[in-house]
Amino acid sequence: MTQTEDKTTSSTGDTPLVPMEKIVSLSKRRGFVFPNSEIYGGVSGIYDFGPLGVEMRNNIRRYWWWSMVQINDNVVGIEGNIITHPRVWEASGHVENFVDQLVECKNCKRRFRVDQLPAENLEQNKCPVCGGELGEPRLFNLMMETYIGVVEGERMKTYLRGEACQNIYLDYENVLKSSRMQIPFGICQIGKAFRNEVTPGNFLFRQREFEQWDLQFFVHPSEMEKWFDYWKERRFEWYKGIINHKDRLRLRPHDPDELAHYAKKAFDIEYRTVLGWQEWEGIHWRQDWDLSRHSLYSGHDLSYTDPETKERYIPWIVETSGGVDRTFLNLLLDAYEEEPPSGKDKEGRTVLRLHPWFAPVKVAVLPLQKNKEELVTTAQDIHNRLKRLMVSQYDDVANIGRRYRRQDEIGTPFCVTVDFQTLEDQTVTVRERDGMSQIRLQINELPAYLLERVTWNYS
Ligand code: ATP
Repeated sequence: MTQTEDKTTSSTGDTPLVPMEKIVSLSKRRGFVFPNSEIYGGVSGIYDFGPLGVEMRNNIRRYWWWSMVQINDNVVGIEGNIITHPRVWEASGHVENFVDQLVECKNCKRRFRVDQLPAENLEQNKCPVCGGELGEPRLFNLMMETYIGVVEGERMKTYLRGEACQNIYLDYENVLKSSRMQIPFGICQIGKAFRNEVTPGNFLFRQREFEQWDLQFFVHPSEMEKWFDYWKERRFEWYKGIINHKDRLRLRPHDPDELAHYAKKAFDIEYRTVLGWQEWEGIHWRQDWDLSRHSLYSGHDLSYTDPETKERYIPWIVETSGGVDRTFLNLLLDAYEEEPPSGKDKEGRTVLRLHPWFAPVKVAVLPLQKNKEELVTTAQDIHNRLKRLMVSQYDDVANIGRRYRRQDEIGTPFCVTVDFQTLEDQTVTVRERDGMSQIRLQINELPAYLLERVTWNYS
């Protein structure tokens, strides 16, 4: 369940929340995100990632993978397919139950999800936009259909996966046998999911094609509570570690009426933006639901035998399921700032205070002047060395202040400037994005200095 608020300042009144239009505009202007099929008028709820967006997205994915799979000895990863056997979605309950209730305003024809309507509009049956009368709620299944096969009449109807995690249950036994894992252990996956959302919108927040990251952690039923608490805390701390505005993050327990019938509890990790408090990741108590259902529907017993005690049981599952796109969007909303003119910057600037790990460009190399050949060749040499280690941009267009601002706006954490002193002593200026402080370093010191600051696993 989500709550929407139409506020442009945070409830503490201190830091203003960033209007979505600013992020949409920056994303298009600087090449983070583009509307899909724009020349044909676009498709609602579907986006493409541009040159900067794809770098940032890869950085986000890689950090999640590193911290969830690579550094945990009891977690492994898979990459499952988008299309599966259609019975999977009967077993999971999606064919029958993956539905949203929708109401349409009789006056303005806008559509709303019933669970997202403010309580007073629901009670009064009133459109939240124009005040018109709302029609009867109708049910919509969110699964996207597709067909396998070429011969008409013999084609098999199936679905683009509505959630990525089903592949993990399907591959659970193969992973168990091939990787010699023992319970407790986890399987992670990052992958696309597809939903015919009733009300796509708010930029990347609610799309029809999006990406999820999941951990499914398999445990003995007696250890469910312990592992549920463990992953809940760890995931909360993980999100806290990647944002600037820690007060905009919270863990919200689900109300009893939100819980699935098999769940004893569930939590949402939520982040507050202009859309109000919204889900970023769900921590779910899935019990033995998934493996039992797939055992039942496939006729293949997915129970586990403990190698020591020989006890046989269906493992219980703790799930952590979040959105790559919501992470991308929340990080932009969290990082965006318009700074007024100050002593250090007379014109003011837009700055994206992204963690250097996620910044699409790590360093920009700038000759002080374009018309001095030695400055240009030295800067190009430095850029050519650095680009093998990290994403580096060479820029010699416009004055140095303009170039700094261009980099600030896309979140580049460091700018290296080659000036006349460089030609004498082989030192360069390194300007840091957030405080705009500058230090001088030997050219040879640059790789280690920058790598230590832009790479999470460097030291
Ligand atoms: P919501 O209540 O916002 O519809 P959900 O509870 O249906 O989300 P889950 O099925 O638990 O979401 O999916 C896990 C994660 O996938 C969510 O926490 C969210 O980050 C992301 N997600 C879900 N639906 C979308 C969507 N339509 N567009 C982008 N990300 C999504």
